[in-house]
Amino acid sequence: MKRQSLDGMESRMGPADVVRPLTDALGAADMALNYYELAPGDSFAYGYHAHDAQEEVFYVQEGAVTFTTAEGDVEVGAGELVRFGPGEYQRGVNRGDERVVALAMGAPQDAGDTEIIRECGACGEPTRQRIEMTDDRDAIVTLCEECAAETGRFD
Ligand SMILES: [Zn+2]
Repeated sequence: MKRQSLDGMESRMGPADVVRPLTDALGAADMALNYYELAPGDSFAYGYHAHDAQEEVFYVQEGAVTFTTAEGDVEVGAGELVRFGPGEYQRGVNRGDERVVALAMGAPQDAGDTEIIRECGACGEPTRQRIEMTDDRDAIVTLCEECAAETGRFD
């Protein structure tokens, strides 16, 4: 058995105000687990994305999350859960005024290839993206795979 308190845990840099990575903290062997707090405008993810080999479940504890999906936008409110299968594209964003508190679970732990799509201003269309840490390690950027333009900066 392993216990972990969210209090005092370091938050990871990224598209969410608070991410507490619980996978290693709990020694989880087969699943990925992250605790999130999204300020208005924040997201769980760097872009519209799909994991080749991993299903994901989100439990929204507070606030409401709008998921962009292949079937359109879906709002998931406090007390609700949503599940995406491997290969299903989605991105959850806090479009409300309230802070979101949520737990994200993924299995298996190794998500396989992850394809990320973001709007590229230079290309004028949504393109595939890669994620990189800046050289001074003070931010994570998303870069267009077509033209290498920076499409987002997260710190
Ligand atoms: Zn581009």
